[in-house]
Amino acid sequence: MSSNERPSIPPLFLDRMSRFLGEEFPAFLSALEEEPVGGLRVNTLKLSMEEFQKISPFPLGSSVPWAPSAFVLPPSLPSTGNHPYHLAGLYYLQDPSAMSAATLLDPKPGDRVLDLAAAPGGKTTHLAALMQGRGLLVANEIKDKRVGHLAMNVERWGAGNVVVTNETPERLADHFGPYFDRVLVDAPCSGEGMFRKDMGARLDWSPEMVTGCAVRQQNILRLAAKLVRPGGWLLYSTCTFAPEEDEEVIIGLLEEFPGYTVAPLPYHPGFMRGQPDWMERKHDHRRAETLTGAVRLFPHRLRGEGHFVCALRRMVEKASLQERQPQGPWRASGMVEMDRGQVKLWEAFLQDMLAVDFPESRLRVRGDRLYFTPEEIPEFGNFRVVHPGVWFGNFKKERFEPAHPLALFLRKGQAKRTLPLAADGNELARYLRGETLLSDGPAGWTLITVAGWPLGWGKRVQGVMKNHYPRGWQVYS
Ligand code: SAM
Repeated sequence: MSSNERPSIPPLFLDRMSRFLGEEFPAFLSALEEEPVGGLRVNTLKLSMEEFQKISPFPLGSSVPWAPSAFVLPPSLPSTGNHPYHLAGLYYLQDPSAMSAATLLDPKPGDRVLDLAAAPGGKTTHLAALMQGRGLLVANEIKDKRVGHLAMNVERWGAGNVVVTNETPERLADHFGPYFDRVLVDAPCSGEGMFRKDMGARLDWSPEMVTGCAVRQQNILRLAAKLVRPGGWLLYSTCTFAPEEDEEVIIGLLEEFPGYTVAPLPYHPGFMRGQPDWMERKHDHRRAETLTGAVRLFPHRLRGEGHFVCALRRMVEKASLQERQPQGPWRASGMVEMDRGQVKLWEAFLQDMLAVDFPESRLRVRGDRLYFTPEEIPEFGNFRVVHPGVWFGNFKKERFEPAHPLALFLRKGQAKRTLPLAADGNELARYLRGETLLSDGPAGWTLITVAGWPLGWGKRVQGVMKNHYPRGWQVYS
């Protein structure tokens, strides 16, 4: 293989797929030769589809049938991820097939939802939008190295109902028990559905990897099952086609937890039903047949890369258990109410700077930081809570200083002092690189906006706008 040649698709994988797909295999094989399909999901917490269509800097393709807030993107668009609208959290880039999971879990505003394997946050941001910022969404990521990226994507999205944790599924299950209305397990997998866009996935794949992933998935799903309240929902998804990691994992759960049943998913054109016949091991026929309620997404059948999604319902064992678990007060990691001095500083900032109010019941302090927390917050014990809500800012001796996530949480028109910059202008590029700008106008904190959408903070002092765009977010292009 020369340096600019793509690694070939593992022949053993192709043999397996040819056995599974039969006469559909040639179409699958030729789809694997095509370019991957990209998707753009609009942040409906910030603007509507119609509003986005009016300002979209890119041509948008057809809408995604199973994700009403998303569009398919035409191939080879340059730097969609560095556009200021992306930095303002107006959209998320995601494989259209991956958008099926959040829509099929169908969370409602006010639900308690857990996204157990959440980084980098594709499904979390989608769930948050579907919940309209209401209720509680716990986004968990086990890997220290990946959780920062997740928190950043959540902050950019500007959702007020998300808590990001960095925990193991074991600790979550031990601590919470059957607390959540809906749990998503978007499991780590062998990534066969990534073969068109991630050459590393082609190189890493082996039959042993499939077997190893299946064991890990079974363990994660077993723990996730303990976190769902009776009457609640568990959604399992992967971006792989291997039945060992898909149908076999589900049937393993059904055998171990008879309180769960497969809930048949809505069927969109191009979806394939779950395939009990692809499993190698023999299982109870009636139970195996319920797996047809799952769905499989393939690149030769629709515009997307590939996914497996299965919804499970936890049956209600006793009428009394149908009720939600009661919750204790909010004491996580030393979060407390503002003291009187802090209330004064916050109110002074609010009056000077913002044209919006926030319920004090949702404002909590940790150290010198002020957070806007979800409507309902459980006791997190000694968990690693990376993002306990939207970080609004810090209390200094005599003043309150706003933080970057507050800027991204604000909507159009909610700040009294703004500096609007043109999306394609030189000044905006300089702001995003962290440079100061010359700018006449009233002194003090100023919200930098693009097309009216908040991007970050600046502080004007004697005609100079000091740059408060955080170093880790800066863009050099
Ligand atoms: N849901 C994410 C999204 O849509 O952006 C993608 C999640 S990715 C497919 C799977 C995640 O599971 C990874 O972030 C990985 O670090 C995490 N993971 C790996 N091992 C795990 C384990 N034993 N328990 C829980 N999560 C694990």
